[in-house]
Amino acid sequence: MNDKRPTSSKSGHGLGLLSILIGIMLGVGLGAGYGHTMWMASGGPQRKLDQFHKTVRQKIAFAADAEMQRDRLQQKARQAAAAGRRQEAQRLGEEAGRLQTKADTLRRVHVPAIRAEIDRTKAVVGQAAQTDLTTARTVLVLVRFCGDVFLRMLFVIVIPLVVTSMICGITSLGDIRHMGKVGGWTLAYYFATGAAAVTLGITLVSIIEPGSGADDTFAYVSENVMAKQQTTVADTLLEVIRGREGDPGSGMIPANIFLAASQTNVLALILFALVFGGALSTLGEKGKPAISFFRAVNDAVMKIVRLIIYFTPIGVFGLVATQIADSGGGGAFYVELQRLGWFFLTVSLGLAIHLVVLCIVLAVFARRNPLEYLYAMARALLTALSTDSSSATLPVTMECVEEAGVSERAAGFVLPLGATINMDGTALYEATAAIFIAQSAGIPLSGAALVIVFLTATLAAIGAPGIPSAGLVTLIIVLTAVNLPAAGIGTILAIDWLLDRERTSINVFGDAVGAAIIDRYLSRNNT
Ligand code: ASP
Repeated sequence: MNDKRPTSSKSGHGLGLLSILIGIMLGVGLGAGYGHTMWMASGGPQRKLDQFHKTVRQKIAFAADAEMQRDRLQQKARQAAAAGRRQEAQRLGEEAGRLQTKADTLRRVHVPAIRAEIDRTKAVVGQAAQTDLTTARTVLVLVRFCGDVFLRMLFVIVIPLVVTSMICGITSLGDIRHMGKVGGWTLAYYFATGAAAVTLGITLVSIIEPGSGADDTFAYVSENVMAKQQTTVADTLLEVIRGREGDPGSGMIPANIFLAASQTNVLALILFALVFGGALSTLGEKGKPAISFFRAVNDAVMKIVRLIIYFTPIGVFGLVATQIADSGGGGAFYVELQRLGWFFLTVSLGLAIHLVVLCIVLAVFARRNPLEYLYAMARALLTALSTDSSSATLPVTMECVEEAGVSERAAGFVLPLGATINMDGTALYEATAAIFIAQSAGIPLSGAALVIVFLTATLAAIGAPGIPSAGLVTLIIVLTAVNLPAAGIGTILAIDWLLDRERTSINVFGDAVGAAIIDRYLSRNNT
């Protein structure tokens, strides 16, 4: 079987890359320069006002909750003191004092600051009502259209791509009963790099301490995040496997595979294709017609992927401009960035160091030049940066990796699986964010708690689907495991969209490196 795809010319690759970069730069330019006007045209000020009102109500509820807990602790402290347990009484007293300070800050600092902001936003709502924003509205509709169509094109091809490439990858590895080693190495790679990323995140956030002094005045936690706080870590993990109650298309093992496909439940399809491909590979001659069928379908799907890639420059332009406009324009985002600057820097630094780690792993285990490989992956990395989704980027990653000379069988096996379970960037982010939240709430974490953060962050990243902001939702697993308030998520919400793009690119690069390593393993062992 001819595994290698024809490599396109270097100048063609460079040109494609350049056009994507231009698309991103134009998107940033439009979003930063005209994003605020587009935001006004899309009813942004009114949405912001509504959000501020909800935030005030939430802060008051949090303050009341803290006061209730304070009363309970004070009572316990009195009982401990009466029983002569002085140390315990002192510890409870200190904890009660911390809750008192929290309630005071919420009532006396946060609520008045948000009310002042409400007054300012009311003026902006009035101003928007009096301005003719027809042009901005039209521009936004058109720009959003470009981004949406591109995203839809990627998502529409993901399901056929995942299923056929997985089946082709598995069947070309030979009889499934002999492939335990390849599977083992792949999982070992996923786990080792994930663990390295989490360790890096924990180390950096502990050294830099971005959480001490972080400003969470305007943090708001959405209802669905608050509701998730009630579920336990075990429940959440079991849900990833079994799916949600009353939703037969969800989970790793859905009750209905077609429903799973209709919900773009990629993990379920991967597992199904893995088992299906494995079964096909054991059939010998009888399985060959079906295998050829899936190979032909996979080739056709990859042809469509190459067509979709032509739309990348305009698609990324639309996605980037819309995102900046939705977050209030360049100025508004700059304000948020300043508020969370240290957290942003810590995560970005961690991701940058992990990129270097992956390059070293690539050079050592795949014997490839990291810079050349990075260059070959650039289109996939920029697509990840713009789409915010490993799954949506998968078609582009597949194409880039195969263009870089990685065999179809390695790519077909490692990439789809990696796009949903191998998320180094997400793992690093979850650990860093959890400790950041603890620091900003003034809650010290013991050594044992750090170990729990390590384990749950690794698991939460495995459980996160490759879609935008999935890591933010599974962060609840880490927070509840170490008894941190889910409300902390509100603190990092405002800049999550940018950090999500960064971590998604690292997730994608991690998968691409894995594919190159497994490819070398396969060719060295003549498998
Ligand atoms: N957006 C990420 C991805 O698709 C997941 C996350 O960290 O939110 O890889």
